[in-house]
Amino acid sequence: MSSYAPPTTLSPSRIDSFLSCPLAFRFSSLDGLFDPPTEATVRGTMVHRALEHFYADTAAQLDAERMNDSVDQMLTEFRHDDDVLFLELEGDRFTRLGDECRKLAMNALQMEDPSTVNPIGLELRIEAEFDGVTLRGIIDRLERDNDDHLVITDYKTGRAPGPSFEKKALAGVHFYALLCQREFAEDATELRLMYVKSTQTITTRPSSKTISFTEQRLTAVHRAISQACESGEFATRKSALCKFCKFSSWCPEFGGDPQLALIDAPRRNSTSSE
Ligand code: SF4
Repeated sequence: MSSYAPPTTLSPSRIDSFLSCPLAFRFSSLDGLFDPPTEATVRGTMVHRALEHFYADTAAQLDAERMNDSVDQMLTEFRHDDDVLFLELEGDRFTRLGDECRKLAMNALQMEDPSTVNPIGLELRIEAEFDGVTLRGIIDRLERDNDDHLVITDYKTGRAPGPSFEKKALAGVHFYALLCQREFAEDATELRLMYVKSTQTITTRPSSKTISFTEQRLTAVHRAISQACESGEFATRKSALCKFCKFSSWCPEFGGDPQLALIDAPRRNSTSSE
């Protein structure tokens, strides 16, 4: 087994990837195998961009007309985007994808009164040092509430989790709360997940206990990743998510050989994109 240099940066998506399946993490984060975009991932990126345009000027009239304009602006940008082109959408599929994005973006207006939102950062890139590793994240919306407290909002375009999975879904925003504390020396008072498909909002309040739990979790995940990198052993974690895994051809759970991925994957990807 070859060993790997442990990653020097961690983000919520990398942590989630490792916890979901260490072998899939190795393929995407360490071997650099191509993880092709899907309509769902592209739709999510497009909706985030439309909402970013919408809140970019809070002095404007934040109404349905402005949201329509924001979606139009986003569609102009994405028409020739690499990920959109990769999807090779046929016929009027791009138009229908745009319609889906418009509906999701409009749903956000039912979930909050935009005139009360006071963003201080949109798609805000933030990083902080932690235990020898750089933590990185992109906060969809960082804002100040009426009491001047920090609120972190994360937009979601997928399905909202059931009650027993809410804690897991909130791990990413707790990560951002830790980043804010380290970067701005200020605690966020509210963390929000906005599920624009079902118009559900999940809210929680971070505390010294949740910050401490997030730090312990990060230390444990970082240690587990480092150990896997040193030994070269990345376990499989078979689950319902395997049916969406782009690397299943090289997964031993499905009769594949992980070592062949480094040889086969580039050839397979270049063939599939021709
Ligand atoms: S198919 Fe499943 S077990 Fe195999 S690498 Fe992908 S996610 Fe992991």
